[in-house]
Amino acid sequence: MADFGGDLDTFRAEAREWIEANFPASLKGRPNPMMREERSKPSEDQEAWRKAMGSKGWGVPTWPAAYGGGGLSPAEGRVIQQELGRAGAYNPIGGMGVMMFGPTLLEYGTEDQKKEHIPPIVRGDLQWCQGFSEPGAGSDLASLQCKAEDKGDHFVINGQKIWTSGAQFADWCFCLVRTDTSKKHEGISFVLFTMHQPGVEVRPIPLIAGNSPFCETFFTDATADKKNLVGPLNGGWTIAKRLLQHERSGLSGAGGSGGFGMAAKPLPKLAKDYVGTDEKGRISDSDLRTRII
Ligand SMILES: Cc1cc2nc3c(=O)[nH]c(=O)nc-3n(C[C@H](O)[C@H](O)[C@H](O)COP(=O)(O)OP(=O)(O)OC[C@H]3O[C@@H](n4cnc5c(N)ncnc54)[C@H](O)[C@@H]3O)c2cc1C
Repeated sequence: MADFGGDLDTFRAEAREWIEANFPASLKGRPNPMMREERSKPSEDQEAWRKAMGSKGWGVPTWPAAYGGGGLSPAEGRVIQQELGRAGAYNPIGGMGVMMFGPTLLEYGTEDQKKEHIPPIVRGDLQWCQGFSEPGAGSDLASLQCKAEDKGDHFVINGQKIWTSGAQFADWCFCLVRTDTSKKHEGISFVLFTMHQPGVEVRPIPLIAGNSPFCETFFTDATADKKNLVGPLNGGWTIAKRLLQHERSGLSGAGGSGGFGMAAKPLPKLAKDYVGTDEKGRISDSDLRTRII
């Protein structure tokens, strides 16, 4: 459906008023804490802002209201983003649940799966990580070997993932597992499981800059309930490809939800505000450049 915007003045006024009433002044112009790799306990104001946006559904403005989303049009969603930017506010609802997993589950999940998993993402209560890449399965992702065995009402998962961004902070994992070794793409399933279980071990990978944006993640008899198989058994590759489309559009800024929950400012402006520029207008310090991305 075409989305030409229409008359949005009334909605803009409503959004402006709500943001003014709910966004804590102490957070104005402050960076989004979700963008930091080292997570400290959120302040009271940060929590209040997350809860306000989470219950309003405006962190994911275009997601269906039936699951807690804003239920707004893309044009109204853009107004929210613009008004957040105008107020110096960030979108506190983000991460991989928003950018990749939520939109995919809305398309491929059962009604029960959507009711269980979408609202906590909308509220920012739970964070997700992506268990796709393996040491022997990067560009050729479909050669993945992490195995899930059918144990009746659940799967038992054994194997290793790598480059799992934010796994050390994640509550849940959306994971590609091998459920049939006789086929390549048609032997992969898409499962969900909690990271808070004994069979999951996360080892952050230290980079030379001292930070650890991604991890090695090991599964030893980890379990996933059958109800958390998304799509058909051995039908995970189709779902994975769709999720990767959302990942690409989110990273390129084309997604409608604000991607990782970035502040509603263009990245160059954000970077200049953060670190300043040299006399030629460029961001001068390469170490700082690394840290702000
Ligand atoms: C910032 C960042 C965050 C990431 N976060 C996650 C995450 O959260 N979860 C996750 O699952 N993955 C994540 N990844 C992994 C990513 O999605 C890719 O799967 C991974 O980077 C590519 O695999 P690899 O590193 O094993 O490279 P390889 O596949 O080994 O490729 C290495 C090089 O070889 C080239 N190459 C590969 N095959 C061929 C070929 N047949 N012919 C010619 N050239 C070839 C590639 O183009 C590349 O230049 C992340 C990656 C980055 C950079």
